[in-house]
Amino acid sequence: AGRDALLEVRDLHVSYAGSVQALRGVSIWVPDGGIVAVLGNNGAGKSTLLRAISGSLAREGGTVDSGSVLLGGRPLAVRSASDVVRQGVLQVPEGRRVFGSLSVEENLRAGGTAARDAKSRDEARAKVYDLFPILHERRRQRAGLLSGGEQQMLAIGRALMGSPRILLLDEPSLGLAPLIVEQIGDVITEINRQGTAVVLVEQNAAMALRVASHAFVLEVGRISLEGPAAELARTDEVRDRYLGVG
Ligand code: ATP
Repeated sequence: AGRDALLEVRDLHVSYAGSVQALRGVSIWVPDGGIVAVLGNNGAGKSTLLRAISGSLAREGGTVDSGSVLLGGRPLAVRSASDVVRQGVLQVPEGRRVFGSLSVEENLRAGGTAARDAKSRDEARAKVYDLFPILHERRRQRAGLLSGGEQQMLAIGRALMGSPRILLLDEPSLGLAPLIVEQIGDVITEINRQGTAVVLVEQNAAMALRVASHAFVLEVGRISLEGPAAELARTDEVRDRYLGVG
């Protein structure tokens, strides 16, 4: 791990009550201003890794047995999700949970409650609408009426309302059509260009390796492979098992 890592996970062991260890010594790092992909099949431990970083593990019945999470070289207090949010780490959970009966704008407002003042909240919202013009068009519609892709954009937009230093994305491409997946990938690139580091957990290895600079492969609780995304995309293992082009 480089000295300039913004986020660093060191030798993390996590278990769930009454279940086997979900993470067995996982280390990853996220460079300041970078996009890192975490690939892996169902059950590999991707969501568990994100939960351990975002402080939502206890809520799911999991425990960090050992290891640490560092933000800017200092231990990240992962006791509760709200502590972690305050430190600038925001997670977009799998399954894009938006408030279906609230309007698009109300959903964004719910994500902006931590903003210092009305002015910074309005600025954050304007940035979200720049990034996702479709959300601006639909701002008065109920979120439940949006398409899957639009709901994913709203879920990302809501997290951006908290002006994160690091955005944790849990399978944003899940269940979306290829064209929409490409759009989500482009938006992740743009969010990163505007200064937010990103951890992108994906089963869609093609999209993840396209947008990430560095990638880690998680296999049953351990990192089996890591490297620059472009190099990983050329390895036989990743081509066979994750890109399906062996
Ligand atoms: P998926 O893509 O299916 O979400 P994943 O890579 O995110 O998979 P995890 O959800 O992190 O994997 O699961 C890792 C392991 O931990 C699995 O064996 C899973 O059954 C177990 N696990 C996950 N969540 C819980 C939970 N809340 N309680 C008990 N065991 C869990």
